[in-house]
Amino acid sequence: MCHNGGAMEPILPQIFTFTGLIAGRVYMLQDTDGLTLVDTSIANAGDKILAQLKAAGHEPAAVKRILITHGHPDHVGSLPQLKQATGAEVWCHPLEKPIIQGEQSVVRRPSGFRPPDTKVKPTTVDRTFNGEETLPILGGLQIINTPGHSPGHVSFWHPASKLVITGDAIFYLMNKMTLPLAFLTADAEENKRSIKKLLALKAETLLFGHGQPIVRTAAAPLQEFAQRVGVV
Ligand SMILES: [Zn+2]
Repeated sequence: MCHNGGAMEPILPQIFTFTGLIAGRVYMLQDTDGLTLVDTSIANAGDKILAQLKAAGHEPAAVKRILITHGHPDHVGSLPQLKQATGAEVWCHPLEKPIIQGEQSVVRRPSGFRPPDTKVKPTTVDRTFNGEETLPILGGLQIINTPGHSPGHVSFWHPASKLVITGDAIFYLMNKMTLPLAFLTADAEENKRSIKKLLALKAETLLFGHGQPIVRTAAAPLQEFAQRVGVV
């Protein structure tokens, strides 16, 4: 078998990440009634994601839902292809829905050096989150509203394994947690308040939108990061 496209790697029981994607990490959560993807990476990642699912024994139709942390091109780039290939429902925060549906531009910082006005390739959203609800995924996966990087940015909290999927509220680059690039962040101060909210969860595992997961040893480096960037 050819492994040039990378292979899914286990993180914790029922929780996996895809590998070899250029930018924007994608996670797979495995329940008995089907699979959940979190984010979809950039536009050319769909083939790799589908190939890695297949290599692990999963047909595209096994994917029942795709959760989106926020509607940036490196998180929803392969969403049109993956929704089409899997038939999965797309779930997101209400404020990200018009962005993901291509009706509204990606929200940019109000001033300073900004990226060009961007609309993503549209995908229909099937369901929006109802506050900080707990989803019936992995026995209970809670939405944590973490606005700032984008207005409807969310993280996902799995209390049973003390795990947070952070999206882009925190980056993890070269073994160091960092703030998301100010250039690509709608409201950096609001994002800091969201990091403080994540800190309070006392997570032990952090799964980032960019960077390698930190498994079971994240509490101390998260505290150190929060102090370093003035969140606490
Ligand atoms: Zn982003």
